[in-house]
Amino acid sequence: MRVRPFSVALASPLRTAREELTDRAGFLVGVGTSDGEVDRDGGDGDTDDGDTDNVDAPATGIGEATPLPGWTESRSACAAALREAAANSGGPAAALDDLDADDAPAARHGLALALADAAAREADRSLSAHLADRTGLPEPADFVPVNATIGDGTPEATAADAERAAADGYRCLKVKAGARPLEIDLDRLRAVREAVGPAIDLRVDANGAWDRSTARRALDRLEPLDLAYVEQPLPAADLDATARLRAETAVPIALDESLAERSVGEVLAADAADALVIKPMALGGPDRALAAALRAREAGVEPVVTTTIDAVVARTTAVHVAGAVPDVAACGLATGGLLAEDLAPDPCPVDDGRVEVPDGPGIAGGAFDGLV
Ligand SMILES: [Mg+2]
Repeated sequence: MRVRPFSVALASPLRTAREELTDRAGFLVGVGTSDGEVDRDGGDGDTDDGDTDNVDAPATGIGEATPLPGWTESRSACAAALREAAANSGGPAAALDDLDADDAPAARHGLALALADAAAREADRSLSAHLADRTGLPEPADFVPVNATIGDGTPEATAADAERAAADGYRCLKVKAGARPLEIDLDRLRAVREAVGPAIDLRVDANGAWDRSTARRALDRLEPLDLAYVEQPLPAADLDATARLRAETAVPIALDESLAERSVGEVLAADAADALVIKPMALGGPDRALAAALRAREAGVEPVVTTTIDAVVARTTAVHVAGAVPDVAACGLATGGLLAEDLAPDPCPVDDGRVEVPDGPGIAGGAFDGLV
């Protein structure tokens, strides 16, 4: 097992609850398979075990662990968890069993992905086919529909951005709200609906910014706009209030940040959502993300797969997870543009409002060979 730190610059700073991030920093994880492990150097590029035969052997499976404070463990906790995993005398598979998805979801994502990539490549099938098969699902989709994200601008700018996205082929738009007074957000959203017409699916993401009375008023006023859903109208931990809100409105509700505070089971049991945003990095791996998506669907809650603004390896993995979910709704996978640079060219860029699920072996055939 090999671990290599990386950092890629964000196109514009990302404000989290705790800090302002200018880059996404994480770790690439490499595992070997049939020929045994590649070197165990903990990411510093040196080996001290004297075995030089396989030092430069390419990893046969690659994973990405990109922690996002608030959603996952810290970067230092992620590094420590991966270091411990690399030192596990039982090898990567045993290390995965020992990794706690609640304590170190990003680290678990990195290692689980590397092992799944290696297994899929060995079986000469795509990661989505591998995940689907292991979960008893039918053949994965060839394409996944994605939504465009429309940022917070004036009503005119928001409508212009929405019109541009619709012209680019997006059939689902997610508009950020909650940063401005409600009246202005309502103007923005009405302007968007008017600009794109009735055929485009509109989602609104309030990112937990509204209090209960603002959320009530917002949903009342938004009802005529025929929204696909309003995401996280109330703060993350406010599940009971969200359930009450949902019972009193015809506007469907999605939850996202609530999963950073509560388990999938708790969120589903609260009966507070029509849709649930699934982030593989925050849930501890593609396997766990797919399981969460299916669990949501069984509970009558529509899963929507998205990223934590990951680099290309994890972003492509999220595409595979989404592809494995039968008839998945538009997903938040058009996040590559939020990075100013990346680890490798994007193997599945957005085209006509959808992304192609890579069909080469593993995550993307040999597209990421040599990265770790
Ligand atoms: Mg959201």
